Amino acid sequence: MPASITCPSCGRTHAPDEYDESRFCRACGALLEVRAAGHGDEAKGWKTLFPYEPYPQQVDFMGDVERVVGGGGILVAEACNGFGKTVSALSALLGLGRQIVYTTRTHDQVRQVLQEVERINHHAGAGFTAVNLASREFLCLNPDCRGAHGREAQEICNALRKDDKCPYRSEILEPPPGLPLILTPKALSQAGRRLMICPYFLDLEGKLLVLDEGHNIDQVGQETLSDTLSGRTLETAAEEVKAVGGSRAHMRRLSGYIEEEVGDVPRLKRAEELESDLCAALGSDLTTFTEHYASMVDKIRERKLRRGEPPVSYLSGVLAFMELLASSRKDRYVAIYRRGPYGSNQVEYRCLDPSLALKPIVESASGTLIMSGTLSPLKLFAETLGLEGSELRSYPSIQSPESVRMVVDTRVTSAYRERSDEMMLRIGEVVANGLEKVPNGALVFFPQRELMGRCLDAWGVKGVVKVRGGILHLGGKQLFREGADARQNEAVLERYRATALTSPGAVLACVFRGRNSEGSNFPDEQARGIFLVGVPYANYGDPVVRAQIAYYDRARGGMGQRWYTMDAFRAANQALGRGIRSREDWCHYWLLDARYAANLDLISAWAKGGGAEIVAEEP
Ligand code: SF4
Repeated sequence: MPASITCPSCGRTHAPDEYDESRFCRACGALLEVRAAGHGDEAKGWKTLFPYEPYPQQVDFMGDVERVVGGGGILVAEACNGFGKTVSALSALLGLGRQIVYTTRTHDQVRQVLQEVERINHHAGAGFTAVNLASREFLCLNPDCRGAHGREAQEICNALRKDDKCPYRSEILEPPPGLPLILTPKALSQAGRRLMICPYFLDLEGKLLVLDEGHNIDQVGQETLSDTLSGRTLETAAEEVKAVGGSRAHMRRLSGYIEEEVGDVPRLKRAEELESDLCAALGSDLTTFTEHYASMVDKIRERKLRRGEPPVSYLSGVLAFMELLASSRKDRYVAIYRRGPYGSNQVEYRCLDPSLALKPIVESASGTLIMSGTLSPLKLFAETLGLEGSELRSYPSIQSPESVRMVVDTRVTSAYRERSDEMMLRIGEVVANGLEKVPNGALVFFPQRELMGRCLDAWGVKGVVKVRGGILHLGGKQLFREGADARQNEAVLERYRATALTSPGAVLACVFRGRNSEGSNFPDEQARGIFLVGVPYANYGDPVVRAQIAYYDRARGGMGQRWYTMDAFRAANQALGRGIRSREDWCHYWLLDARYAANLDLISAWAKGGGAEIVAEEP
């Protein structure tokens, strides 16, 4: 540790004990960074561990990880699918000889991390340990809790442990000896059973943090710090209270209040108003209310356990909502009144500031790597997370130059004011012409389902979409339209994928931000062309979107509009990412909106290949 740490943003110096207390500048809030001595050329860790012949881009990436993350800083890194981010990051970080906590989003990605660690061990004759810390749902060994989800599982587990009813030890100070080097959930469960310890609590407190697939950690962070109170929860809580001899009056008053506030369209209130409304409905402040009911939660759980039921308490959910409301920073929250997915009236207490969730996590790590295929625009992404002091890197693709090509057509737009029938038709013709040049499968993304329907209908009327043998075709390919729900969509995808492998192939019409732009993958022949119709701005009429813009305007010096644009371009980058899934894959892109040309710097570097070709109106 140096004698003092200087803020990279405002220049204030900090004593080491100030740095130990908080890793953010006392004066301006920027992240402070301690550069470790001995890095750079002297750091050769990854060179012995990386199990392949590295590409120059990978060498750059591993060098940056070693220097920035190893030096205690934050690296926000964007690199294309197929880049080898996982194995590169692991080689660089394991080469530092420090412990890593590596988070991913899906079980497939977890498996890939474990495989890469195995590969590194095999290549370098090393013995690195990897433990897959899956969710309680997967790791719990107790049949009374296993199978429960989310908060319910947490409540059941807490109740069982409190009463010493779980036979598996959860106070584990250090990993027991004899664990295999690479632990999958299955191996972890077997070891847990054998040693009578709970695998879920086998927490290897890490030093270096990797947030893989980090493109939506802002949303995840906000969701983690948000909560919802519904009329249905209150009704069940009222019955629980009655069953242990209490009065249902408070729960009913809360439920009546929410019912009065919820209308046909979502409505917003400031967090302070929500708090004062609830206090008025209860006739007391929120702390008095939660203290009064806290002991009842234990009685409810004990009663359920006695009756052989899972010890879930809805009252506990009500109290958790009130505690969050009472303890949170209200200038960073908003209340939303609307009908929930099952028609129940509800109020959501929504966090508008992702940095509230991210900063403490990053502060507790001694170096952080946030990486994904789609983080652009990087600067704004880091700003929304409150990580202004982080180092931002977007690495070029490692595909060959012909593999990624981009055409930006400025002759068309789907901007709201210019959505004439003529414009719709022009877009259709451009898409159809482009499709003629694409073999096998192609994807066409639309900003909204409604616009997709309008375009396809208009293209059908004008003969851009043709009917051959009773089957719709666009640009010579069989036309598929994404399914309205997960099941229908799976059925559509199955047929689309099979047809895409044939010639002349298939085209799938889908929407940005939907299951085909965020969840599904389209490797190789499944997507040789991707067409973006318009820029996927979020619905400005949605009060939540407006509240988010207003928050950034207020709290971050007019950043609202820039966030709104960033959000749209991130959704566009996400859709482009569907087409390249490995180093050998190739895909060509058509960006059909003049607004892309004006904001090309917001498109991920890897997607531009050797540079975007701009198509303009003939003079
Ligand atoms: S301690 Fe572990 S095994 Fe026991 S209930 Fe909790 S998660 Fe399940």
